[in-house]
Amino acid sequence: MSSKPDASRPRAADTKKVHIADTQMTRQNWYKHVNWLNVTFIIGIPIAGCIQAFWVPLQPKTAIWAVIYYFFTGLGITAGYHRLWAHCSYSATLPLRIWLALVGGGAVEGSIRWWARDHRAHHRYTDTDKDPYSVRKGLLYSHLGWMVMKQNPKRIGRTDITDLNEDPVVVWQHRNYIKVVLTMGLIVPMLVSGLGWGDWYGGFVYAGILRIFFVQQATFCVNSLAHWLGDQPFDDRNSPRDHIITALATLGEGYHNFHHEFPSDYRNAIEWHQYDPTKWTIWTCKQLGLAYDLKQFRSNEIEKGRVQQLQKKIDQKRAKLDWGTPLDQLPVMEWDDYVEQTKNGRGLISIAGVVHDVTDFIKDHPGGKAMIKSGLGKDATAMFNGGVYYHSNGAHNLLSTMRVGVIRGGGEVEIWKRAQKENSEYVRDETGQRIIRAGQQVTKMPEPIPTADAA
Ligand SMILES: [Zn+2]
Ligand SMILES: [Zn+2]
Repeated sequence: MSSKPDASRPRAADTKKVHIADTQMTRQNWYKHVNWLNVTFIIGIPIAGCIQAFWVPLQPKTAIWAVIYYFFTGLGITAGYHRLWAHCSYSATLPLRIWLALVGGGAVEGSIRWWARDHRAHHRYTDTDKDPYSVRKGLLYSHLGWMVMKQNPKRIGRTDITDLNEDPVVVWQHRNYIKVVLTMGLIVPMLVSGLGWGDWYGGFVYAGILRIFFVQQATFCVNSLAHWLGDQPFDDRNSPRDHIITALATLGEGYHNFHHEFPSDYRNAIEWHQYDPTKWTIWTCKQLGLAYDLKQFRSNEIEKGRVQQLQKKIDQKRAKLDWGTPLDQLPVMEWDDYVEQTKNGRGLISIAGVVHDVTDFIKDHPGGKAMIKSGLGKDATAMFNGGVYYHSNGAHNLLSTMRVGVIRGGGEVEIWKRAQKENSEYVRDETGQRIIRAGQQVTKMPEPIPTADAA
């Protein structure tokens, strides 16, 4: 951390108190860096729950209820906080919004307004310093660290939340957040198991405290695991990744590379066999008339992204291969010089105006030494392209790695011009490499060339 003053900052700010997050952590001040309220909520309370679990027996009914309530509150975050409010990927009727605001509150992850604002900043400024939970600062930071340690709110990227301020459910939940958390986080789960089958304490410990812990850890994985584990089928410039394990842990939020590419799509998983219970829930709500306007990107657009990423991977692979010296970088040889050098024992062969040094290859030639030797010092274009044998694609590729020059003069001028023309018309990939497709090598003639003696 640099302690240099930021020159771009207005002068008035210099006189203001420096935020603790912008100061060096030392042995004396470390406790000031810690957000103790959050530590209590996400570390202290779960530990208290684990300790109590030692003497509170877990009843089967309470266990089932805790799992059900885990899904309710988890979906409150994924279908509500995330896909409805942060991304507006569908619209919900008032009863569904109230339900999601309540059960989402029961997950104890802050108010919708706060959560969605940070999440929009995360999407807008992914992996940068303005990203509130950037994985570039470490996996643990993106999972918990950003909440456990105090953050300067000015550092986090600005986002527009006017739509959220206009939603009365969001505003109400924000204003009454503590009441919502206590009621939905602890009282409701306790009431259900207490009034239902008399297990008050079990309801409090298992469906309340420990369930909160599991929901929190699961949804935190969207910020950590989903930016760390898995594939990047749509874009690999940033950290979001797709993985089934993350999907299983996060109620279907694991196809995060897709999600960052198409954030306003109500789905995370686009294949029917992928695990996305949040998508299934939203879809079911639509069938029940509770949700509408489900947004979905056209598969044409999704496939474009996938193809471009595949292309990028292919370009990277291509760049690692030896395609031979580009024609325009080869020295120009006179025909007589070419013939002269072969007479002096160098294994040169001219094909399509390109000279190849096959000295070390003669002994390995699949068609035999005699055959290849008969082409040395001559124009072997026709021999190579069907006159004697119509060489394979692999042979043309291998040949290109043996290039040493191009011929000037005589009948070869036309070939050289064609080579140059082709060269300028080559498509280049994003690394600047020419894309040499099968059958389009410069030594390859479009049709096999028959010669008089081949008939
Ligand atoms: Zn993300
Ligand atoms: Zn998102």
